[in-house]
Amino acid sequence: MKITPPGSTPSTQGAPEYFTGDVRIDCPFCGSGNLSAATVTFEPGARTAWHTHPLGQTLLVTSGLGWVGYEGGRVQEIRPGDIVWIEPGEKHWHGASKDCAMSHVAIVEMKDGKATDWMEHVTDAEYRA
Ligand code: MN
Repeated sequence: MKITPPGSTPSTQGAPEYFTGDVRIDCPFCGSGNLSAATVTFEPGARTAWHTHPLGQTLLVTSGLGWVGYEGGRVQEIRPGDIVWIEPGEKHWHGASKDCAMSHVAIVEMKDGKATDWMEHVTDAEYRA
């Protein structure tokens, strides 16, 4: 058993190639196999780029008010306690709402060492749809 205290891994900034706005990533961990997870915090208006996950993704919303969008669908609100399952290969994005930050724990299983296939940024029109 091992307890990793907060602060033992510095917070990192979401890379501008993959995110719009201010995004902080905390507490990343990798299991012994192909499981990885991290707490991701989006400032108001911040969101991921469009992307897919080869084996899907689970999002556990822990604070704030967020939005999630998928190709061909309406943007939906997500709140603390919501558990969002993204299907393998489903093109989507997630982030804060326009005026309120949001944090979630993002859990993914990697396929061939890869968790995410990144695509184009989410435009303001797509974000507010
Ligand atoms: Mn995702």
